[in-house]
Amino acid sequence: MGLDFLRNRPHLIEQVYALAEKTAWSLNPLAKKIGYARVERLIKVPEDIAKEVFFDCQRCGQCVLHSTGMTCPMTCPKNLRNGPCGGVRANGHCEVKPEMRCVWNVAYERSLQMPVYGHELIDIQPPVNRRLEDTSAWVNMLTGVDKEVPPGWIPISEVK
Ligand code: SF4
Repeated sequence: MGLDFLRNRPHLIEQVYALAEKTAWSLNPLAKKIGYARVERLIKVPEDIAKEVFFDCQRCGQCVLHSTGMTCPMTCPKNLRNGPCGGVRANGHCEVKPEMRCVWNVAYERSLQMPVYGHELIDIQPPVNRRLEDTSAWVNMLTGVDKEVPPGWIPISEVK
């Protein structure tokens, strides 16, 4: 079974993700007891390998894959996390890398096949926190550090 076969079945990947997320939250009390730093040492390498193989993960440490059609937004040359720029070519390819389809075109198509998380594509993501680079996104989800936003940041939906 080729990797593209799996990548193009986002409904299957989201089911695996949903199970992993549920498991992570149920194990959170134990992780807290063990210590998040120790847990990170245990899971960081397998997390990196799995995400790099399947999603070309760039290790931002603030994973939004399930909200972006199981397509890593950090593979966009501009690292855009809230939709495409204005430079998408008429054929749907990237203006920076013409040989590559726009990450957001792919994310949109895949999100339509995701009954659980697909609707999150329109959620506004906070600016990426570069201080989380190369840390475990799973641990950051459990500690909540991935939800912290820079002081003064207001989602566009709340701007009057
Ligand atoms: S969103 Fe971040 S953690 Fe998730 S796959 Fe992309 S670079 Fe990796």
